[in-house]
Amino acid sequence: MNNQKGFINVVVIIMVLVVVSIAGYYFIVSKKAIQPPITITETTQDLNQPTTPTPTPTPTPTSPETTFTLKSKYLQNDPTAQAMASGKMNKYNIRTFSSIYGEKGPYSTDNFAYKFLSALRMLGYTRGYKTVGGQYIAEQYLNRAQRFNNLTSSPFIDGSILKIIDSEFAERENLDRNLALNFPLYNHLADHPLNEPTSEHVTALLSAVFGELPANLAVWSEKNFKDFYIRQFGQRIKNADSPDYQICESAIYPEFGMDCAIGVYFGTPLINKVPANSPQNDDFSFASLALHEYAHYLDQKLYSPESGTSKGVIDTAGFYNISYDTSDPAPGGVREFAYRRPQNVKNEFVSSYAQGWKRTVNGKDYFSAAEDFAESFSLYVTDGKVFRKLAESSDALRQKYDWLKINVFNGREYQSGDIQSVTILKQQPNLVGDELVRQATGAFNVVDYSTSLPNFVWNYKFLNGSLVPKP
Ligand SMILES: [Zn+2]
Repeated sequence: MNNQKGFINVVVIIMVLVVVSIAGYYFIVSKKAIQPPITITETTQDLNQPTTPTPTPTPTPTSPETTFTLKSKYLQNDPTAQAMASGKMNKYNIRTFSSIYGEKGPYSTDNFAYKFLSALRMLGYTRGYKTVGGQYIAEQYLNRAQRFNNLTSSPFIDGSILKIIDSEFAERENLDRNLALNFPLYNHLADHPLNEPTSEHVTALLSAVFGELPANLAVWSEKNFKDFYIRQFGQRIKNADSPDYQICESAIYPEFGMDCAIGVYFGTPLINKVPANSPQNDDFSFASLALHEYAHYLDQKLYSPESGTSKGVIDTAGFYNISYDTSDPAPGGVREFAYRRPQNVKNEFVSSYAQGWKRTVNGKDYFSAAEDFAESFSLYVTDGKVFRKLAESSDALRQKYDWLKINVFNGREYQSGDIQSVTILKQQPNLVGDELVRQATGAFNVVDYSTSLPNFVWNYKFLNGSLVPKP
């Protein structure tokens, strides 16, 4: 089984089936478990010292530039981080969190490696677009962070990267505090499992994403966002009918199964453990998915409007009509249509997924149009520059962009993304299964545009640009 395909198929399932269970996801990878070698390097030897042997080694005082005071709340009480900041420990192997791409878990999160990985995730770092079997997932994040900060790639967390990440994270914590307090579901996000991103950060993430939308699209009320969760992520809520309902964001915390229960993976309860190939969901990918699902929530073809919420506020009929012949719905269906120009499909959609789910009735193919709207909506926000670039060479994509600009975003345009990703994806397309023949942009989901950029770090914004500048 090709595991990248396996994962992407999982994403497909999550996007479409509101009732998909995380527990099901845990069973995708069926390879035999192989325990990777664990190398923990905890040494007091200073790597910066000359390696010339000396007959009588004497303790060398740690040089001032290798010691520092931890500033972030997340790291400053951690004994491993403290040992490194004080010069008592030189390096720590991030492979201690032993999740390898393509291998079967679960993997223990009870280590500093996982905690540091979580800090990287909370700063907008991503794993990257191409992962091959045998790579350590945490190391991929670390290597991206090292390269981004002009440090040499290695499996080791050392004082240099710790100091940078800690300092950045101290600033992030202040931003998160304000963002989280402003979000209507504050106090309803479940506490974070061991060494995971904090619940305050996850709340801030939601606040940042929806705060980038025009006010009429995101009614800033508990009613609106709770209703969105119930409709699109119902299994992530416990006691939805109670005032003390709890949201367990299993896309960020893979330890959770349905209804805030601890997940089970191949018979093992996920207590301080995460399943295979996890965490997949960096914050940017979560944001892209959340916007996709929120677009469904706004779609009047899926939901009737309800006062006090943004549900069903967009009459998407005009958008559907661009690529689909809405006068020709599938028999027995109301949201599936024939393509207007079947021979031109590869030029009309922002991603393969946007082409919709096929259903064949009496020998004729019909496709769900809601995915086109959701993928296009998501790209409009996360990669505005990219969407405008794609629209230069496609009349249908030009029409879709303009339709969204006028009918959804009231003229607002986003400076997010980097058009370099258009070229990268054409050269290295994310091809999945039988979608391959219909592929044109190279993106399977629109999340692929930004994550394919070699130096992409998300700044938790979209409107005025989404990329952290390289130092
Ligand atoms: Zn969808």
